[in-house]
Amino acid sequence: MNKKLRKAVIAGNWKMNKTRPEAKALIGELAPLVKDADCGVVICVPYTNLETALEATKGTNIGVGAENCHWAESGAFTGEISARMLAEMGVQYVVIGHSERRQYFGETDVTVQKRVRAALDAGLTVILCVGELLEQREAGITEEIVGMQTKVALGGVTKEELAKIILAYEPVWAIGTGKTATAAQANEVNHYIRTVVAGLYDQAAADAMTIQYGGSMNAKNAEELLDQEDVDGGLIGGASLKAPDFAAIVKAASR
Ligand code: PEP
Repeated sequence: MNKKLRKAVIAGNWKMNKTRPEAKALIGELAPLVKDADCGVVICVPYTNLETALEATKGTNIGVGAENCHWAESGAFTGEISARMLAEMGVQYVVIGHSERRQYFGETDVTVQKRVRAALDAGLTVILCVGELLEQREAGITEEIVGMQTKVALGGVTKEELAKIILAYEPVWAIGTGKTATAAQANEVNHYIRTVVAGLYDQAAADAMTIQYGGSMNAKNAEELLDQEDVDGGLIGGASLKAPDFAAIVKAASR
């Protein structure tokens, strides 16, 4: 299947940045710059900015996502937010399994799987992150790591539900470090992930799957990364906080 038949999605991950007035200003600046995008455009923002983002993106082509969700529908989970709460607000996307959640907040492949299930049940589209640590790449086990993360996270996900999953390959050593994977490295792992999806489901499902790359993608390197056959968009951290930079990446994906 030709790459052009897959939907490229450029998603911003704002992480723990922007107050509500700052969020409103950034979206106000971004919306006109990306209005003609020929790819999906999404911003994933802190919970406190969701309402502002939903309001500010009304009538635009920008989708809104959260950066995590809990797996339970409700209950005694102080400080947590459920997928159902997000969906009820009108949120459409949620990032699950980001390496910062795995590194700093005890996220495991099993909790990722539970969160994916809850998000799908609530009707959200999941941006599911997988990626190896530097030591794992150096030990030559990148494929084993991303393969296992992908298989566990997709455990129980039906072929029909894959339409609501975007995979994001994010080598941990490239996130927020300014160290980007080369276009060839990104394509190689994205291609491997596609073979894992083909093994779990079938080739048609794998061919249709949007698989992003994330890790220090910016206005300068986006074009080369996004040109790769198996790279269908990007998950963008730092560069999503500046409207012209994020818009340049969206433009590169729209070619
Ligand atoms: C991310 O947060 O998913 C990310 C890729 O960050 P950055 O672009 O800053 O490396």
